[in-house]
This record gives sequence, structure tokens and C-alpha cells, in this order.
Amino acid sequence: MSVVTRFAPSPTGRLHVGNVRTAIHNWMWARRQGGRFLLRIDDTDAERSREAFVDSIRADLAWLGLGWDGEERQSQRFALYERRFAALKAAGRVYPCYETPQELELKRKVRLGRGLPPVYDQAALALTDAERATLEAGGRRPHWRFRLDHGAPIHWDDMIRGEQRFDPALLSDPVVRRADGSWLYMLPSAIDDVDMGVSHVVRGEDHVSNTATQIQMFSALDAAPPRFAHEALLVGSEGKLSKRLGSIGIDDFRAAGIEPLALIALLARIGTSDPVEPVQELAPLVAGMDFSRFGRAPARFDEAELAALNARIIHGTGFAAVAGRLPAGMGEDGWLAVRGNIATVAEAADWWAVVQGPLAPPALEPEDRAFTAAAADAAAAMGWAGDPWHDLTGALKQSTGRKGKALFLPLRRALTGRDHGPDMAALLPLIGREAAVARLRAAAAAD
Ligand code: GLU
Repeated sequence: MSVVTRFAPSPTGRLHVGNVRTAIHNWMWARRQGGRFLLRIDDTDAERSREAFVDSIRADLAWLGLGWDGEERQSQRFALYERRFAALKAAGRVYPCYETPQELELKRKVRLGRGLPPVYDQAALALTDAERATLEAGGRRPHWRFRLDHGAPIHWDDMIRGEQRFDPALLSDPVVRRADGSWLYMLPSAIDDVDMGVSHVVRGEDHVSNTATQIQMFSALDAAPPRFAHEALLVGSEGKLSKRLGSIGIDDFRAAGIEPLALIALLARIGTSDPVEPVQELAPLVAGMDFSRFGRAPARFDEAELAALNARIIHGTGFAAVAGRLPAGMGEDGWLAVRGNIATVAEAADWWAVVQGPLAPPALEPEDRAFTAAAADAAAAMGWAGDPWHDLTGALKQSTGRKGKALFLPLRRALTGRDHGPDMAALLPLIGREAAVARLRAAAAAD
């Protein structure tokens, strides 16, 4: 079987972590199986769809590195939906209904009051041609429902949830088309999944009951259903999908210095029994992709975990991967010197500014000023090749008897203006002899 997956966002907002997670899993599964990953823009709702969101969806996927092998837009496929709809109508699988929202609400209440499931009672199926003509003569336009076959239970073997069973009598016949002719999500999606040869539908568990209905749509369309994987929902660290989490766009993470790899590494693995790991490429995530590792409990998305993972990934990132994003003049030595001390790539520029100077001389204790004066003399006199930091501190240890913090901290302060930071052995060659001597002298002179 050739594997085809799809990510099918509605362009009614920016992508957020919840929908990007399903994009990642669809992408991973297609890559793992040597299949195709499609981007399908579900823009049947002309009123709420925006071209700007289509652009931001593409930009976010591109930034994440989730390349897609084909793109379709539902708004360009209406002719196909029309044809399939006509066939389903001829076969009696879609039927016109005339109830107003108020009438439906009343029916629902009556059914609930009688202890019946609040599903649509299929009353419109019993209308005669004459009754329909009368309703239409009175100005009512029909909306259309898909008729569920109540003959046998609906079931499928979900790749995450296992065997699923639904009694169709407990489901409402879904409205598939509004009175104005516009399409609701359910039927175009099933038509497209058939037409595009989608083999695996990976989506959130909020779609489970839609799947039950769509399984009957597939058979009404004379097609075998795809395999389904419904993943448990994503929740924030506080245990529910907060408004805040739903409103943070992928571009916000980008602006905050989160690497695409960090977001993918986290979203790919939370909610599974595989560990979240600071990977340096997508390949190991793809190779380990396995729906049987996915749990049924909500996946917990913790922004603090993301930030920590981001830092760990950066600490292991090679120069080539970031070269284009570093400040001018910062080469591989510079990157390797600072990467272990930063949480975002942008912070490399802070350390590069320290390397390049100018620095305000730090205020040192009088005895430390004398010590840095001696250090300046030693630095000016010694060779600079090899490992100047160890040569310098070795010589000063000998000449002054200082060791440990008393030896290192005044030097670090004088040379970087800070108490903490990257390994001085890596920084000092970057600062260079001339600047180092000048900084040590300036620290010696400052008060
Ligand atoms: N446009 C639908 C949604 O965003 C797609 C769901 C599906 O994957 O079928 O919920």
C-alpha cells in the first residue's frame, strides 16, 4: 500500500501547538513509510477563511522543515463535491431537511425529556414529495444530511485507540451542506481522502465520532476507509489546553528563539512512551515513529520543558547549522566557545559583543587591581599561540600564589565584564592579546 497522509488545517487562524503536533505526526509517518505528505487547505468556509492564514500556515510548516509533497485547496474542488453529492443524492444517502434551528432545538429537548439520545430523528426522510413542495413554496430552502445506515455497528481498528465501535443509531445524521449550498467539513473531507488516495488519517481524538460517520461516507462513496490514528489531546502544564496555549502561534515560538527542531522533538514525543530527546536532526524521530507507542492520556505540553530542550539542542548544534544567523565576524571558534552558555541562538550576539568589546572596566577590589596589572604585564610578555589562558593563569599562579576563585574571577571580570560565562580558555584567543592586555590594564586602573 502506498502511504499518503495529509495535514488539513482550516485557514481561520494561525497554527498553534495542537494542530502542528498532528502535522508533525502525519509528516513523520509519511516519511517513515516512504510515502507522501499532503497539505490540504480546508477552506470551504469562505467567510472565515483568510488568505493571510494560508500564507502563515505555509510559512510555519516551511520554517519547521515539514516539507509537503502536494497542496490542495478545497475551495478549488467544488465541482468534484457537486458530482459526488449528486450521486449520493440519487442513492438516497443524502436527503433534504427543512427544520429551522429552533425546531431542532425543541426536538432535542423533547428527546432528552423522554430519555432518548438527543440525535436527529430522521423525520425529513418521511416527507412526501408534496410536503417538500409545500415547504419550498413557503420559502424554505433545504439543508442536506447524510443518512447513516443503522443496520450494523460501525467499527474500525484505530492505530492508537485500538478497536472502536459505534452504534449509528446514537449518532445524528450529519448536516453536510447548508441551505445556501455551502459545504460543511465532513463530506468534502471524506471525498478528498478518497480522491487523494489518503491511506492514513492522523488527527485529534475530538474527531473520533466524525470518523464513525465518515466511515459510512467512505462506503457510500464505494471506497475502503483509510486507517485512522486519533491522538489524545494536548494539554498545558496545568492539565488543560489553556486559552493561552491555543493562542500562541508557531511564529511566537520562533520570535522567542525556539528552534524548529526543539518544537518538533517535543511535540513528536509528548504523549508517547518514547523519551523527549535533544536530537540534532529529524531522522531519528522519523525512524522511531510508531503509533503503538502513543498513549491514551492527554499529552502534556510544558513551555519550560520546551525552553530547556531548546537550550540542550543549541548546546550540541554545529556551526554550519547556525552560521547564517550569527553576528558578522563570528566564526566556528566563536560559536563553539559560546553555544554551551546560551538558551537561544540570538544570545550568541551578546557574547560576541563581549568578545569584541568595548567593555566598561569592572570595579575591582584594590588588591585585585594590582593583580590585574600584573596579569596585563604577563599577558603582554608571554607567547600567545596554543592555550594562552592556561599559560597566563599558570604563570600568575606561580608569581602571585593565587589559586581558584581568587585567581580566575578577577581575570574573568576584567576580560569579560561578567562573573560567569563560557570557558575562558575558549574566549581568550577570540578576545586576542591586544584587547586582553588593554582590558586588564583598564581594570587595573579603574576605581
Ligand atoms: N479541517 C479539519 C480540522 O481542522 C480537518 C480535520 C481532519 O484532519 O480531517 O479539524
